[in-house]
Amino acid sequence: MVRDWRKYLDEADHRRRDKLVKIEKIKKQKRSVRGRTVDDWIVDSQLHEGDETESEFSLRLGRLVESGQRRGRVIEVHKRNIFVAEENAEGKPETELLWLCSVAKRHFQRAHRERNFVVVGDRILFEPDAEVAFDSEGQPKETDLPRGVIQHAFSRHSRIARRDPLNPEWEHVMLANIDLLVIVASVFHPEVRWGLIDRFLVQAELEGLPAAIVLNKVDLLENPKLATEEFLRRYRKRLEIYRGIGYEVFEICALRPRKTQAEVKRLRETFKGKLIGFAGHSGVGKSSLLNLMKPEFDQIVDDNPDIFYKGRHTTTYNSLLQLGIGAYAIDTPGVRSFAVEGFDSITLTQCFPEFRGINCHYRECTHDHEPKCGIKDAVAEGRISQERYRSFIGVLKGISFREGEGDASEAEVIADLKARGQVRDEKLRQMQSGEADDADEAELPADTMDTTDTEDSGK
Ligand code: GDP
Ligand code: ZN
Repeated sequence: MVRDWRKYLDEADHRRRDKLVKIEKIKKQKRSVRGRTVDDWIVDSQLHEGDETESEFSLRLGRLVESGQRRGRVIEVHKRNIFVAEENAEGKPETELLWLCSVAKRHFQRAHRERNFVVVGDRILFEPDAEVAFDSEGQPKETDLPRGVIQHAFSRHSRIARRDPLNPEWEHVMLANIDLLVIVASVFHPEVRWGLIDRFLVQAELEGLPAAIVLNKVDLLENPKLATEEFLRRYRKRLEIYRGIGYEVFEICALRPRKTQAEVKRLRETFKGKLIGFAGHSGVGKSSLLNLMKPEFDQIVDDNPDIFYKGRHTTTYNSLLQLGIGAYAIDTPGVRSFAVEGFDSITLTQCFPEFRGINCHYRECTHDHEPKCGIKDAVAEGRISQERYRSFIGVLKGISFREGEGDASEAEVIADLKARGQVRDEKLRQMQSGEADDADEAELPADTMDTTDTEDSGK
């Protein structure tokens, strides 16, 4: 009988493979055990993964607090220096109880690896340095900023992120744990860009964050030179669209708040008890608006006529601000535009509330060219507005449309894509030749970001 040596080889092969799989499995277990003991950065990860019950977690948290750790909220990050406001019994940050913290050494490796390790709005546990002396109320005695070390962070319940235009997989989380995204635009100076508002709304929907729209400088609507009949018609239509979908829209004059007193009051009530993230171009009046909310520091309102471009020259930091009206705000100079692109149509459809629940023939319908498209039918029947439909297609294809000019022609689309590619190539070249700042530290190139969103600013 001829011995089937190939079979034998096969068996040996199998045995070897089985052994390898086993070794891998043991290695993996070891890694995860090791990982668990070292990587305790996210303090409530076990709770969220179901390995710990609510009461087990609060017991453990109680022990950490008893051992001297304090709860805080990150209010500013300057490289390794992290400014933390201590949280009061209700879990609200007290921005006058400020600490200067660093991250505990054992988390350094992870902190280096992860770009978004600590961001403004993060809730953390920190340990005061040994030399900090306390008064009878448990507050630091020193007049200088007391120092501490961050030991743990809590998982984020919401986040606002943008993608690096150079590395689309590279995400930059700008804010964490906000309760409401307030999109601020001005009717004129600079003129409202509805497409940009739609992009911000998409981002909010993606994070499951409530969003509100504030239209500032409504005093300028009384100027017939600016506010033509055609403009007013489109303006009113847009407001009707957003309100119809269910978004809160506020029309205010931050410069002369008495002109729009009721709206400002309504805004204050909406803000109360929340951590607000502001989004919008510079020059639209975010600082003026914040000043109406009794901030702990007055926000500087820039009266430079070239204000629309000021964001490109100044480097400011995201910072969390306590508002006298019983709210908090994070003003983010960096949030001029999000890189909302690269979505699949199913995800993006979910980000347009008025599109939800409408069926198409194809599950992965892009609502663009496919037959039997429920969305296109809804547009034709007026149940979905042309305006929002155009924004949808724009975000889906990563194209910009010029407001009021109908669809962009194919040539325009190609020119747009080309221009964006050139900006990216140029930035890449600069980075490689060392002309640009360290990408990690520098603000993302505003120009690169903005090219994706200049749909109606190129006049
Ligand atoms: P930010 O860059 O978004 O913080 O905008 P600012 O608050 O610095 O305001 C930009 C410019 O718009 C300043 O010159 C303000 O005086 C002006 N501004 C702010 N609110 C209003 C408004 O309600 N009406 C008018 N006409 N101008 C305003
Ligand atoms: Zn469809």
